[in-house]
Formats: sequence, structure tokens, C-alpha cells
Amino acid sequence: MSPNEVTITLPNNKTIKIPTGLFINNEFVDSVDGKCFETINPATEKVITTVAEASEKDVDLAVNAAEKAFNEVWRYVNGAQRSKLLNKLADLMERDCDELAALESLDNGKAYKSAKGDHVPASIEVYRYYAGWCDKIHGKTFESQEKFSYTRHEPIGVCAAIVPWNFPLVMQAWKLAPALACGNTMVLKSSEFTPLIALKTAALIKEAGFPKGVVNVLSGYGKPTGSAMAYHMKIDKIAFTGSTVTGRYILKAASESNLKKVTLELGGKSPNIIFADADLDEAVKWAHMGIFYNHGQCCAAGSRVYVENSIYDKFIDKFKEHTKMMKIGDPFKSDTYQGPVVSKAQFDRVMSYIETGKKEGATCLMGGDRHGKEGYFIKPTIFTDVKEEMTIMKEEIFGPVVAISKFNTVEEVIEKAHMTDFGLAAAVFTKDISRAIKISNELRAGTVWVNLYNLISPYSPFGGYKQSGMGRELGKYALREYTQVKTIQINLHMTL
Ligand code: NAD
Repeated sequence: MSPNEVTITLPNNKTIKIPTGLFINNEFVDSVDGKCFETINPATEKVITTVAEASEKDVDLAVNAAEKAFNEVWRYVNGAQRSKLLNKLADLMERDCDELAALESLDNGKAYKSAKGDHVPASIEVYRYYAGWCDKIHGKTFESQEKFSYTRHEPIGVCAAIVPWNFPLVMQAWKLAPALACGNTMVLKSSEFTPLIALKTAALIKEAGFPKGVVNVLSGYGKPTGSAMAYHMKIDKIAFTGSTVTGRYILKAASESNLKKVTLELGGKSPNIIFADADLDEAVKWAHMGIFYNHGQCCAAGSRVYVENSIYDKFIDKFKEHTKMMKIGDPFKSDTYQGPVVSKAQFDRVMSYIETGKKEGATCLMGGDRHGKEGYFIKPTIFTDVKEEMTIMKEEIFGPVVAISKFNTVEEVIEKAHMTDFGLAAAVFTKDISRAIKISNELRAGTVWVNLYNLISPYSPFGGYKQSGMGRELGKYALREYTQVKTIQINLHMTL
């Protein structure tokens, strides 16, 4: 059995109280069979605490709570009231932003400075953005001589969210906020690598005053917990972010169960194209941020950098110098840019890609091994002269590893950019605006950045072309993913 609450001491000697049970019907409870699992601090490899693990029976309890809350309460709560609750949650997150940031650093390994400066505020912004939509979701009217028709944009019902470990707080917000704004109830499963932030959020949801059962939060593994959700007959919609392999599994589970609606946000191998006329210093900084932000653990990471031949050597020198300046180490130190990768599994996976890169003949210009003796730290790694057929140019590494190569013509670089099954994001650096627009139109990716990288706003849709996913998150577009349209037709004076 897991203790219902633990006190965690942070590296700065502050303490945080965290519930560890499953959050069902606004209560933190033990799992039915008493199972629990440990969560590890990736900077020290030590256990932070133990949390309850949801079995299929617990998934049933959470889904039943969400169904009851939807049928009896939440669908009748008006938009203004839903908006108030989402804003209240955002207020509480602002109040506790230090704790939220600390938990992200502790459980995931990301730099505290980045968690506090970027990820917590970005999540709050998403709740506030969708709070603004709650009372603006409505249908259309259609009139003719014979009949009057109108549409209603209704909530889907019980939604599920399965989120990954790379941005625990942000990924939750991208799913919870639009789902609740549209009037759905939710069962959310956090990643087994980062359960703490979801538990803290659950406590804030209760404090904000959401009715019981509207949001339920489960800790657990892909199997059995996530799988039980994907196959559940009473879950009407599932939103997933994570690997393409799991995305396929969820789609299959939906088709083999109740044909629940599915949105998927999967992997990427995004090209970042730098032309000779770009502001070189700016391009270097954005390209660095494009790949090394969050230790390369971003689905949209600019992991393939293509640099025009005439500036290639200069770019590489400056890129290396800039990378050297970014400190790796204790996530809680104020000058740390890069902490450890999230887990031993990810550490081994990324290191094996680095070895493959070396074996296949790419030049390892910098990094290429672990940093320090303890923790899952990997030095920022730069591979140059990488060929299209090499594994590190083709597969998503999801770590601090960049593959750089050169190009000569626009046609060549577009062809190279498209040599992937993914299509999540891309970027172009140039001062020539017509070239930027032409290439942006050409690239098959859900987001194209011009002279910047990795900036995402709550009001702009985000999602993938090709095997990077289905559907869109964020912006007005996400409202479509959490509503269904009903047509009502009224006979004005037709007789049969
Ligand atoms: P994953 O897809 O296994 O896990 C993501 C989430 O899905 C977790 O909550 C996990 O518990 C759950 N899950 C796993 N198997 C499931 C199943 N059968 N049914 C339902 N839910 C299931 O990803 P991972 O193992 O944590 O990471 C592996 C790779 O995935 C990474 O190296 C990276 O390439 C990719 N990844 C991508 C993203 C992204 O943002 N697109 C995020 C995390 C990982």
C-alpha cells in the first residue's frame, strides 16, 4: 500500500507534501489490490517516493466516477461556471508555481529555471486560454421556408488522457483544459516516470472546487493501466501523446473496443534548414534551442539541421562554441541548462543511438558520452557530416543529440527534409521572405517556424502530418476534438 501523502525534501531543503494515492471522486485512495511503484530522481538515481499503481479495476472505478459526474453534474454546469473553475485552477497553479516547478525538476530532471520560467507559466496560460472559450462554444442556425435547423456542439462524454514524461505539466494542460472547457469529464494517466506533478495537480483541482468525478488521475504503467483505458467501453474519447508504437496500439484498441474517438500526438524527426543569408548568430542560438531545449526530449525537436554549404564550417564552429557555454548538471542550480534524461531506459536508448552514429561513420564533434558518475546525464552531442541513410538521421532519438549536414540547393534540401515518415515540425532560417514562404508551403509538417524554433502558443494549433499524429491540440481547433455536433431540425409547416 502507498502512504496517502508524503513529505519530499528538495535539494534546496524546502519540503513539499504530495498525495500518492489514486485520485478518484476527489479523494486520494489506495489501488484496489494495494499495488504501488517507485518513482526515481534521474539526477541521483535514488527513489523519491512510492505511489499507488492503478489496475484495471481502478480504471473501472475512475471511469465510473467520470461517467456519473458527466451524466449527473458536469453537463449541466454552464460555461461561465466552468470558466471560473479553470481560472481558479490557474490561480492556484500561480500560487504554487515554485512547488510545481520543483516537482518537474525532481521527477523529470529538467532544469528548475526552465520549469519555473517556461513550463509552469505555459501551462497556466493554456488553462486561462480555454477558460475564455467555455461560454463561447455554440452551434449554427440554418433556416429555410419549410424548416428551422440548428446545431449544438456537445461534449463527447468521458474523455481519457494518456500523457508522457517529457513535459508532464504542459501535456496535462493541453488535454485537460480543452476537455473540461467543452464540458467533458476526464480520466488522466500520467507517465510511470513522472507521476508526481499529476498528483499535485489533482490536489489543486480538488481545492479549486471542481465537482467530484469531473477529473480523475491515475498513476500507472502503459500495461495494465493505459491499455485498460484504451480498451475501455465507457471511455468515449482518448487523447494520447507519446511514441508512435503506443499510438498505433491505442488506435488498434479503439477499433477493437467501442470505436472511441482518438487524437494522437506522436514523434518527430524535424528538419531545421539554415540558409547562408540568415542572421548566423541568431540561427545558431535558435538551432541550439531547437534541439537541446528540454535535453532534446521534445517531440518537435529540430534534430536534423541542414546548413547551406557556403556557411557550413562557420555555423559548426559557432554552434559548438554556443553549446559549450550551456551548463550540464544539477537541475536545481540556477545556471544549469541541461539536467539528466528522464530514466535509465532513455539513457540506454540515447547512448545506443550515439554508439550507432559513431559506428556508421558520422563525425562525433562534441559529447558522445555520459556526464559525471551518477544520474542519467548525457553530454550534449553534436554529429556532423551525417548522411541521410544513417540511423541517427532517420530515427527519433529523443535526447541531446543533433545530426548536422550540408546542402547546396533548395530542391536538394526540401527532398532531404521530406525523407522521413514523420511530419510534426520544421524550420527555415533566411532573410528572404518569399523563399521562407515558398519553403514553408512546401514542407509537409504541422508547424513550420521561420527564423525561430520551438515556440508554441495556446492559440495556435499543434499536431502532426504523416506518422506524427492525428488531430490537433491547442487553439480553437482543439475544441473540435472534444465536442460532437448534433443537428436539430424543426418542421415549420410541412405536412406529409
Ligand atoms: P510511450 O509511448 O511508451 O509512453 C507514453 C505514455 O503512454 C505513458 O503514459 C505510458 O505509460 C503510456 N503507454 C505505454 N504503453 C501503453 C499502452 N500499450 N497502452 C496505453 N498506454 C501506454 O513512450 P516512452 O516509452 O515513455 O518513450 C519512448 C519513446 O517515445 C521516446 O524515446 C520518444 O521517442 C517517444 N516519446 C515521444 C513523446 C512525444 O511527445 N511525442 C513523448 C514521450 C516519448
